[in-house]
Amino acid sequence: MYDVIIIGAGTAGLTAAIYSARAGKRVIVIEGSTIGGQIATSPRVENYPGIMQISGMEFSDRLFEQATALGVELEIDTVVGITDNGGIKTVTTEYGSFEGKAVIIATGVKHRKLGANGEDKYSGRGVSYCAICDGAFYKDKTVAVIGGGSSALISADLLSDGCEKVYLIHRRSEFRGEEKILSGLRAKANVEIVCDTVVDEIFGDEKVTGVTLRNVSTEKIKNVSLDGVFVSVGQTPENAAFSSLVELDEYGYIVAGEDTKTSSEGIFAAGDCRTKAIRQLTTAAADGAVAALAVCDYLR
Ligand code: NAP
Repeated sequence: MYDVIIIGAGTAGLTAAIYSARAGKRVIVIEGSTIGGQIATSPRVENYPGIMQISGMEFSDRLFEQATALGVELEIDTVVGITDNGGIKTVTTEYGSFEGKAVIIATGVKHRKLGANGEDKYSGRGVSYCAICDGAFYKDKTVAVIGGGSSALISADLLSDGCEKVYLIHRRSEFRGEEKILSGLRAKANVEIVCDTVVDEIFGDEKVTGVTLRNVSTEKIKNVSLDGVFVSVGQTPENAAFSSLVELDEYGYIVAGEDTKTSSEGIFAAGDCRTKAIRQLTTAAADGAVAALAVCDYLR
């Protein structure tokens, strides 16, 4: 029997694990895919207080080392549901089940799809959702990054270091991402920023060879030859497995306030998977700490 079962080994989950273990609790973290979560695929993190610059991968590795050094257990498996039997929670995975006195859900969010024709057909054959994972395959090639948030800007910046040409294609003319990165991109000779434009189709043969772009103001259509398309249009939560026990909002986020308490007693939600205004590395870490301390309080 674990004191706390943490679902998700991203920043929120691992911070919760560190705080829980330091409070003397028996902790297991269950992760379905990537240790470190979303930030593990971020090329550069430059806005975490006290760290000037670090790769997302190294940041994740450090969090993981810190947690395991404190005795936190890790299980790589996908959670399919939680049941509550008079206070004892059973977390069921694809390959087994775990019992705990409390649960922290820290499942983060997943990449959102663009919805363009050809996106699924060419996924893994020129369409990618991760510049840090796949960028090296496009050295000296021409690629497009789709999106106007921080992730898209950071991806375009990273790709511009190795690619011959990078198009940054955004459906509006105002960007959500950081102005500092945007102005850096504007100064790069191999980056072309294309605003007010959407991707109608991704086409190719065996692999991607181009995209059909449509200017949303003029409705003018043009084809651009490309070797790769990096979709970076935000994220979406995946909390369906918990919907029988905890309340979700209309977008699928777990309804929980700053205290991380969900509609179900003894189940807490930390990080990007819960309803909140700001989804950042710092707020994920903060949520992990709050959830762990809320668990300690609950167990008392
Ligand atoms: P985001 O801020 O939600 O931006 C998504 C972008 O994609 C927006 O520009 C949006 O356009 C566009 N978009 C959405 N759906 C689209 C569609 N179907 N077709 C075309 N464009 C579409 O997502 P994000 O950049 O992934 O960032 C998510 C959060 O993580 C943000 O809070 C961000 O600040 C944070 N983040 C932090 C770090 C870090 O801490 N180092 C790094 C990366 C991201 P509109 O603007 O028109 O809506």
